[in-house]
Amino acid sequence: MLEPRTFARDLLRWYDTAGVAMPWRGERDPYRVWLSEVMLQQTQIATVIPYYQNFLERYPTIADLATAPLDDILKVWEGLGYYSRARNLHRAAKLVLEKHDGMFPKTASALETLPGIGRYTAAAIASIAHGERAAVLDGNVVRVLARLYDLPDDVTLAATQSYLWKLADALIHNDRPGAYNQAMMDLGREICKPRHPRCAACPVREHCAAFANDTQLARPVKAKRAPTPHYDVAAGVVYKGDDERILIAQRPLEGLLGGLWEFPGGKVKAGETLPECLRRELREELAIEVVIGEQVAAVRHAFTHFRITLYAFEARIVSGEPQAIGCVAWRWVTLPEMDAFAFGKADLMVIRMLRERVNRLL
Ligand code: SF4
Repeated sequence: MLEPRTFARDLLRWYDTAGVAMPWRGERDPYRVWLSEVMLQQTQIATVIPYYQNFLERYPTIADLATAPLDDILKVWEGLGYYSRARNLHRAAKLVLEKHDGMFPKTASALETLPGIGRYTAAAIASIAHGERAAVLDGNVVRVLARLYDLPDDVTLAATQSYLWKLADALIHNDRPGAYNQAMMDLGREICKPRHPRCAACPVREHCAAFANDTQLARPVKAKRAPTPHYDVAAGVVYKGDDERILIAQRPLEGLLGGLWEFPGGKVKAGETLPECLRRELREELAIEVVIGEQVAAVRHAFTHFRITLYAFEARIVSGEPQAIGCVAWRWVTLPEMDAFAFGKADLMVIRMLRERVNRLL
């Protein structure tokens, strides 16, 4: 049976000597802790570091963030993915300014009332910035706990999750909750890896039931997920007459890639060809009729719960003036002017291919 005090002692001893260096380590400013925790959601540390530094240069304080235009924030976030995080940071910063006199709430429960801050992020900020005894539980910590306790239950079930929160709360260190939480995150990421746990180097091996029972690779137990669906998407690189400018549209603010710009188009319906889909989407979204030209790009992209292949076609307007029916706004822009707008990854790949094509033709 795992004894919390000796477990935390061994974990913190390791953390104090082998803790991973990161720009936000040792940081107690809640704004910076919040930013790092949000950026790290679903994203690798190496990817986050330059974004974190650049973001803080652009928005050094929460007031700077709250008063910045959302379009600019999305542009700074471009390429980091999961854009609802950027929108929620902006909304939460505004709320802190308007409802909390610019002071970040101190307790985990008050933090959870802000947009985009769930139980994990609230606990991370409250423990690291304010020393509150609030435990974190994310995928890494779930794996560590499931192994430490050799848990045979499916960790995707709500009842198991609630049990794991109880375990996490029971284990967290009284005096150094922030360091303890970061040590658990480091342990999960660096040592107790999903497929190749480094048990020989593990500082808490003596406390680990899965190690004792040789069941590390069977933990955590997870129900098999349904295969990730795949969708074909058609998008238009739409021109008007001989003008070199291209039509781009801004996606609705809520939902996937909300507020980002794109080459207009959408998902292919059953029985539809790619050109048929594109003509329908442009009619529905922008009230324009087009003639479709050659395919200029095909790019694959994976989202959390599905994958797409995006086929981009040249198209020319034959009737109608663009109207923002299924989008927030639209613009005619040249390829160089696209740099001023925030796009998702798949559209950025299309832009890159268009530029390569132009260069080849020069
Ligand atoms: Fe994970 Fe192995 Fe350490 Fe157990 S001993 S916590 S399985 S790395």
